[in-house]
Amino acid sequence: MVSLIKKSKGLKTKFIDNTKFKISAFKDDLAKRSMKIIPKMFKGIQKARRDYKEEIKDLPQELKTAPEEFWEEIVKEAKSLGIDLIGFAPIDENLIFEKDYTGSIELLYENGIVLGMEMDYDAISTAPNPPAGLESLRIYAELGEATNKLADFIRSKGYRVIACHPLGGPILYPAMAVKAKLGKIGSQGLLITKKFGPRQRLSLISINARPLPEINQEEFEISEFCKKCRRCINFCPVNAILDEPVVNENGTITRIDSEKCFEYFYETTGCSVCIEKCPFHKVGYKVLFYRRI
Ligand code: SF4
Ligand code: SF4
Repeated sequence: MVSLIKKSKGLKTKFIDNTKFKISAFKDDLAKRSMKIIPKMFKGIQKARRDYKEEIKDLPQELKTAPEEFWEEIVKEAKSLGIDLIGFAPIDENLIFEKDYTGSIELLYENGIVLGMEMDYDAISTAPNPPAGLESLRIYAELGEATNKLADFIRSKGYRVIACHPLGGPILYPAMAVKAKLGKIGSQGLLITKKFGPRQRLSLISINARPLPEINQEEFEISEFCKKCRRCINFCPVNAILDEPVVNENGTITRIDSEKCFEYFYETTGCSVCIEKCPFHKVGYKVLFYRRI
């Protein structure tokens, strides 16, 4: 019998200490905006935690079969909630973290709906200054809310789901996004998409339903370009991006020295230099393609 529940096989992650974000860096208008954004972000995290606790009280015994139109409805609803990217892939247990420090999620259902939301171009272009930091928090808040709403929508159709907030999360989102054919991983470990380059945040909803729909996502390749480019590696303020990625025993790839990255990430409330310096953010995939990447 197929197991309906997916659990970690021991992948480690780092604890995100929300209290370490240097909120005092936000002044004037940014400070005012942060007073709305930050509570909204925490509200989204708390709702996802509450819903998860309810969900696991009585786990489903069967994997539900969903018709094609059901997935089409999800895509339509996601778009109406402001979600820019959506893809589908089976949950890979190798990508589930041993511990989800933010949402306390330990179990996921069979399949994943991977979601992405674009970050504002101008705000990210100020990285590592406060407008870029606040934009990171804004997207965590907005995508978190949209993810919870989409999960509620799916529940209202009679399906069982677990919503995973974009901040932290129980599973390695960029690798799941690659499985969902949304993009490829850049040298800085971020998902690079054709539409937004590395300028998006990701979340996921796991769902107790099958079969997943086949969505035609455009394939593209960036690894050869990354090998020549190396801008994120050269511009990272704390040299946190490894010269050569390390392939781990479980098949995951380490690209970042997270100790170094996190300290700077806290200090700047989201850094984003490795997004801002990436040509896929600056000029986009199409322009690079026509320059024969
Ligand atoms: S977020 Fe900042 S510190 Fe972390 S890897 Fe990217 S550029 Fe370096
Ligand atoms: S900055 Fe260059 S090396 Fe880094 S992810 Fe973007 S394209 Fe790849």
